[in-house]
Amino acid sequence: MSAENPQLIDKYGRHIDYVRLSLTDRCDFRCVYCMSEEMTFLPRKQILSLEEIYKVAKAFTELGVNKLRLTGGEPLIRNNVMSLIENLGQLPGLDELLLTTNGSQLEKLSRPLKDAGVNRINISLDSLQPEKFRRMTRTGKLDQVLKGVESAVACGFDSIRLNSVILRGINDDEILDLLEYAMQLGVNIAFIEEMPLGDVSDHSRADTMVSNEEVREVIAQRYEISAIDMETAGPSRYYSLAGHQSRLGFISPVSHNFCESCNRVRVTVEGRLLLCLGNEYSTDLKGLLREQPDDSEALKQAIVKAMDIKPLRHYFYDEEQPQIVRFMNMTGG
Ligand code: SAM
Ligand code: SF4
Repeated sequence: MSAENPQLIDKYGRHIDYVRLSLTDRCDFRCVYCMSEEMTFLPRKQILSLEEIYKVAKAFTELGVNKLRLTGGEPLIRNNVMSLIENLGQLPGLDELLLTTNGSQLEKLSRPLKDAGVNRINISLDSLQPEKFRRMTRTGKLDQVLKGVESAVACGFDSIRLNSVILRGINDDEILDLLEYAMQLGVNIAFIEEMPLGDVSDHSRADTMVSNEEVREVIAQRYEISAIDMETAGPSRYYSLAGHQSRLGFISPVSHNFCESCNRVRVTVEGRLLLCLGNEYSTDLKGLLREQPDDSEALKQAIVKAMDIKPLRHYFYDEEQPQIVRFMNMTGG
């Protein structure tokens, strides 16, 4: 059940009931579209402790937020992360506890995550070919991730979705293979357009960007797909596949403007409350948490006040130049 009197409404009348929390900026992979090969991560004292993250989550749920997504970096490599997730799973008012992961830890953690109350999992998977998987993640092992996916399927989460970023000339020949893998497992799959977050050196985004329209055309040549109406889908559009239970999603933050129905905010692992993925509008919650660690009312007031600076929409490109200098692992995908 969500709080009876939701208090998080921005100045455009949008009701915020969904928060994405980044649990770490670190990752065991270095995906070419997300990070550079050499990354400097934040020193420990600059990031929120697990206890501080819990306080932030609790404040949001007391303000009517009923859906939390845990992300990163790779959320499951944070030390003692399961103790935090178990506590989050007990928060009154929370209807859905969601996770986005690269799958590397799922073989051992799927069952504890399910037991802690995680309802749905998104698992990133961009290739089913070991060499190419390595090329795209720089450090990842396909075998380990596939075992993770399969163990999550065996645990019976409410839903599992694979997330695939398609890059021209790298994995655009695997669109149907990835779809068919999802179909075999009976899980959903979403194709994500590469976003201009961070300054990656591996490839030129102008050359590798594959629009979701193009991906959809490849799929529609082999499968009958029909659009599904979903009000809360945000930047995603969903399709059913005739004769199959898997749903097909397209996440197009660049080519679709979904901002008018935006119901979400993000909290970075540095405790920055980001009001929009594609803007730098933010409020610092860490300073407050450290100055007044026992004042949950002050924290809630700061969150309510921040709603006033949630911008109407994002602008990823300013005269064709990416505006955002954050990498995706800092923002929390
Ligand atoms: N490490 C976890 C994972 O990979 O699922 C969670 C964090 S990751 C930043 C969340 C999602 O963002 C992943 O599905 C990843 O593919 C996506 N992502 C990262 N950088 C991106 C970019 N530049 N454009 C589009 N999607 C991106
Ligand atoms: Fe790590 Fe996820 Fe970024 Fe890949 S997309 S480098 S797995 S945070």
